[in-house]
Amino acid sequence: MSAAKCLPLLAIGSLGGTVSMQVETAGEGVTPSLSSEALLAGLPQLEGLALISAETLQLLPSASLTFTQLLDVLQWADAQVKKGAQGVVLTQGTDTLEEVAYFLDLLWPHDAPLVLTGAMRSANQAGADGPANLLASVQVALAAESRGRGVLVVINDQVHAAVHVRKADSLAMQAFTSSHFGPEGLLIEGRVCYLKPPRRRCVLPAPQRLDHRVALLEASLSADTLLLEEVARLGYEGLVIAGFGAGHVSQEWARCLGQISQWLPVVVATRTGAGTTASCTYGFNGGEMDLQRRGARMAGFLCPRKCRVLLWVLIGCGREAELERHLDVQGLARPLHS
Ligand code: ASP
Repeated sequence: MSAAKCLPLLAIGSLGGTVSMQVETAGEGVTPSLSSEALLAGLPQLEGLALISAETLQLLPSASLTFTQLLDVLQWADAQVKKGAQGVVLTQGTDTLEEVAYFLDLLWPHDAPLVLTGAMRSANQAGADGPANLLASVQVALAAESRGRGVLVVINDQVHAAVHVRKADSLAMQAFTSSHFGPEGLLIEGRVCYLKPPRRRCVLPAPQRLDHRVALLEASLSADTLLLEEVARLGYEGLVIAGFGAGHVSQEWARCLGQISQWLPVVVATRTGAGTTASCTYGFNGGEMDLQRRGARMAGFLCPRKCRVLLWVLIGCGREAELERHLDVQGLARPLHS
């Protein structure tokens, strides 16, 4: 048997983002232009690790990715595993990395790892981090210990769970954190070292519907209720609120949310960027106890953006009745003692 035949199969799909951006026209800024082959060309270290098949699936800034495109990406990744890939790596922009990772994690049925990565510096910037992140992602995707861990985000030599990871800095190299929970693992001398056992996962069936809308609105000081009042009339089928503090809104918003939650599921998360919503601490109008009485669900640790992804997927596969259970598990929304 030749050496190549002993190597594991690995698939890499690229979607665009800073990792594949470079200056095309001087003075015009960087734009996505590098194909997946071009990304690999700069990484001779990959040779001998795996038989790699690479495909350019999109060349977009990640702000422009859509759920429909991500379902196509999921199908592509699924096909790679069915063809024998031991793991799949996706490169994309970091701006929506956490949402894409979480979306795919809700739907990824395999034990084989699906690893997402990106870069904070574009390809022709000094000290570009794309090649190092891609190499680390391949190392994670090929490790037997990565199996059964769902979708992982590998960046800056850390491995993060899709449910916890967050871009917490706009431009810094150490932009990604999993606050409170910490990374799942670290890359040390080219090997992944997991700090935690695999998490419990709830995998959902692929959404059958794609035409539904879930709104996300952020509470802010002295905000009016005009947009809120229109949510149901405009045909949204779910609403997520990025609430103040531990999941709070103004008295006016609370009244509106009470009405809206008679028609559609309403989830209240925290806009703070870390920590959980409360469940039984604040009794004022617009506090979490009041909001729950009015029919809203508290998100726990799940951030507003991931709540929107969860609600969209649940509605799409006809499982919105399971919202509470998913928030309990993934947002740890219910206090441990209850
Ligand atoms: N700044 C982004 C990135 O890090 C751009 C994007 O998300 O596409 O890739």
